[in-house]
Parts: sequence; C-alpha cells; structure tokens
Amino acid sequence: MMGEVPAYTVKRSQRKTLSIYLERDGTISVLAPEHFTDEEIHTIVRRKNFQLYKHLAERDELNATRSLREVVNGETFPYLGRNYRLQLVDAQPVPLLLKEGYFCLKRTDKDKSQEIFKEFYRAKGIPRITKRVEYFRGRMGVETGQVRVMDLQHRWASCSVITGDLNFHWKCMMAPLSILDYIIVHEMAHLKFDNHSDAFWNEVDKIIPDHRERKQWLRVNGAGMDL
Ligand SMILES: [Zn+2]
Repeated sequence: MMGEVPAYTVKRSQRKTLSIYLERDGTISVLAPEHFTDEEIHTIVRRKNFQLYKHLAERDELNATRSLREVVNGETFPYLGRNYRLQLVDAQPVPLLLKEGYFCLKRTDKDKSQEIFKEFYRAKGIPRITKRVEYFRGRMGVETGQVRVMDLQHRWASCSVITGDLNFHWKCMMAPLSILDYIIVHEMAHLKFDNHSDAFWNEVDKIIPDHRERKQWLRVNGAGMDL
C-alpha cells in the first residue's frame, strides 16, 4: 500500500549511491549523488515508503514506552477526565491519596511511583466499572462475567464471549466518565457481536447515540492518557 510520503531532507554530495536514513529524532534524511533530480529522489523515497513507515512505527512504539510524566511536584495526572497536580509528601499512611485536588504521593523512585499510580487506577476502576457494567447489563441484555482492570498494552478493553469476562486497561480511569461509559458499552456490545459490524455499532448506538464523538475523543486524547 502506498501512503503519503513522509517529510524528508535531501543532501547531495559526490557519492555514488543514494541512502535514506531515519535520524534519531524521527526525521528522514536522504543522501544523494549530485546528479539525482528532486523527482528521482522523490520516486525512490516513495518506493521505500512502506519500509520507512515500518521503521517510524517501531520508533513510535519505542517512544510510547517512554513516560509522558515526571514524578515531580506540580506534574499533572488525569483521573476521570480531570487533571490533578502532584504533591510529593514524606509521610502518609498510604502510598497515594487524592486529597483536596492534589495527588499526594509518598516519595519513592520513579518505577515504584508508576506502579503505585497503576494500582490506584486499578483499585478505583474495579468498583466503578463493575457498577457501570451492572447498570448497562440489563439495558443491553447481556450476561457478564468477571470485571478486571489491568495492563492491556495497546487495547482499552477486551472480553471473552465464552465467559463474559470483561477486561479494562487501567488507563481508562484517566478518561472522563462519558468516555469510560463508551469503552464499557463498546466492550459489552462485543459480547453480542464479536466484530465491528453494522449490527455491533447499532447495539452501541442504542445505548450511546453520540458514540462517534466519544470514539473520536479517545482517538485524539488517548495517547496522552498514560504515565
Ligand atoms: Zn471493538
């Protein structure tokens, strides 16, 4: 498949072959022999497009594992669609507390802090999501199993059509309630339709008529919902 050609810079020199480099910062450099025209270079880059995109995608994945947030005073962490500032504290009975508009975190190293946050989202997520699942269950007419909140990597939610178990990423707890509802209903609709057919979307539509807007919100804001 041919996509759009990514932006690139060209340096011509007295070399015999053309090379395309993906720089550390994600930009693309083309080193070309002097006699190559812009058009020729463009044709070659376009032909290489697929491989370039593959590299870019891999790079994005690497970047994605890098953290978005520092564990420092004043850094913000989202919870149910609102941002709360971080306040590091020396003594506190529990590792993390949401108090008076602040996330109060007992000082520890970064890895440990991230684990503490994940546990916070997970612990808050289970009762809240379970309640919503129970609420939608009757309206949608589906049998559900266990509700889990966990690290699902690149998915917001998953389910088992056999057991009716529903799994949600802890990141879902960073989203506003309306978005969280959309994720829940979307996954519950998969218990009826194990695909994204018209019948599936019709099912979602019955409960969440503005699902397109919510889906779009998630597409735009989802990447920022991480630690
Ligand atoms: Zn789906």
